[in-house]
Amino acid sequence: MSHEGIRFVSAEEAAQAAAHENDRLPADAVTPLKVRVKKSEGSGVEIDWRDGHKSAWDFRWLRDGCPCATCNAERETTGRLTGESKPKSQDPFAQYQAPPRPDEVTPVGKYALSFKWNDGHQSGIYSWTYLRSVCQCAACQLQRKN
Ligand SMILES: [Zn+2]
Ligand SMILES: [Zn+2]
Repeated sequence: MSHEGIRFVSAEEAAQAAAHENDRLPADAVTPLKVRVKKSEGSGVEIDWRDGHKSAWDFRWLRDGCPCATCNAERETTGRLTGESKPKSQDPFAQYQAPPRPDEVTPVGKYALSFKWNDGHQSGIYSWTYLRSVCQCAACQLQRKN
């Protein structure tokens, strides 16, 4: 298992992450001091930012908020908000879906995290800029509404 944790990032994925660079946030707001991935607890990710702000997301939010092109397109078609869960299937024979959690979390350079989810999905690159822009704290949620 010498390859464990190592995953190469395609040019497409790098471009996808770079697209978020246009979001204007001060450098301190998008530079993490501490990143805690609570993988064994199955809870989520916490980031302490250099500007003193703290953010936290649970894994379900992160999975539903996957920023990859496919998920973005899916959200655009269905009108689902970033991080909002897909409607539960009405099909009684639908397979039981385990709650989302990552099998692997890999840093991408110095600017992002990549998750390999337990449903097999792994194309999303969660850049610091993206994560900060979707901070779930009350203050940020309020600010985004204005
Ligand atoms: Zn995705
Ligand atoms: Zn916040």
